Amino acid sequence: MSLSPAARPDAIRRHNLALVLDHIHRDGALTRAQLTQRLAVSRSTMGALVGDLIELGLVAEIVPVGGSGVGRPSHVVGPHAAGPYVVAVDVDVTQVITAAVGIGGDVLARSVKHTGSVATPPEEVAEIVADSLREVRTTSGRDVAPVGIGVSVPGTVDRHTGQVAVAPNLEWHDVALGRILADRLPARLRITVANDADLAALAEHRRGAARGIDEFVFLLGRIGVGAGIITNGRPLRGIDGYAGEIGHNVVDAKGPACHCGKHGCVETYIGEGALLRLAGRPQPPTDEATAAVFADARGNDREALAAVRGVAEALGRAIATLVNTINPQRVMLGGYLSELFDIARHEIEYALREYALDAPGQHVQLMKPTFGDDSALLGAAELAFAELLADPLSVAGVRVV
Ligand SMILES: [Zn+2]
Repeated sequence: MSLSPAARPDAIRRHNLALVLDHIHRDGALTRAQLTQRLAVSRSTMGALVGDLIELGLVAEIVPVGGSGVGRPSHVVGPHAAGPYVVAVDVDVTQVITAAVGIGGDVLARSVKHTGSVATPPEEVAEIVADSLREVRTTSGRDVAPVGIGVSVPGTVDRHTGQVAVAPNLEWHDVALGRILADRLPARLRITVANDADLAALAEHRRGAARGIDEFVFLLGRIGVGAGIITNGRPLRGIDGYAGEIGHNVVDAKGPACHCGKHGCVETYIGEGALLRLAGRPQPPTDEATAAVFADARGNDREALAAVRGVAEALGRAIATLVNTINPQRVMLGGYLSELFDIARHEIEYALREYALDAPGQHVQLMKPTFGDDSALLGAAELAFAELLADPLSVAGVRVV
């Protein structure tokens, strides 16, 4: 039997640097006293760790503005204003959002490109991202390369290869998006691709209202519908990484046609297309058309109200299935479902209680995302920051003296 070697001081220091940076990333600026208390280390150890992170250009010590004015204001340690940043990309059917995001989740610059609602080829998306990357770099005033790029896609992503297996509403099949992007982006840029609902769940679980909630579902409803599931405090991935595709569970094989090729999928009852169909509006869905149905429903238009109620009922039933299957504490409704929740919360909750088993249905709490429409985008940023946060000494080209 061999004994495992004790952690070397270097490993402990790396570990502690990562912890300090993670606290600042998730909570914003903190005093040295707060950090000392959180890590349960001595003041001098914390002093050395903060010193290292300052030296690395990751954090800065600042005097917060707007203090109480009594006594000497205490310094706080926060993200460095000119520190490293990542590029986060949220690819959806109708638009591609590209943003430069700093430590702490600050969106430094953003570019929104509308693609219409016809299937955009991956090569075109890659061109948009390459242009937008240059744009956000200029607007954010950063003359250094990002530490990584995280990409959110509305489809299933192989957890081992990063390949998009299928994105039904984009009509993508087996697309090596990472490689296509790498051909058009600056060399050696680390690119990671993941599913949109999974990333939205990640952002909310790391830094939003699902923090500390170990049983949690982020239900993302756009043109497509998918779930990002956290169970036992960890993302539920499945063997290939495809878990959470509840939008394509067939509830009625004779139902409306779905983009995945089947009929009567959950998505055809609760996606944006369902709302427009029930409201008698033309397809394919656009953000403007969806906004118009909501505006009409708020103005008591009968057809629009009936459409909202129809989707709300189907949504409550879909959540009931999730509740019976995984017994979550909290379900967050993102994408266009957030506004549906504003208008028809009562109907959604009524259907949920009606269709879920009593016990698991009793305590589940429905809510809107902390980050609004940015949950998936900020999840993509989390993905791109993961390596740096796990080992702050990994910052390219930087050495602590
Ligand atoms: Zn389907």
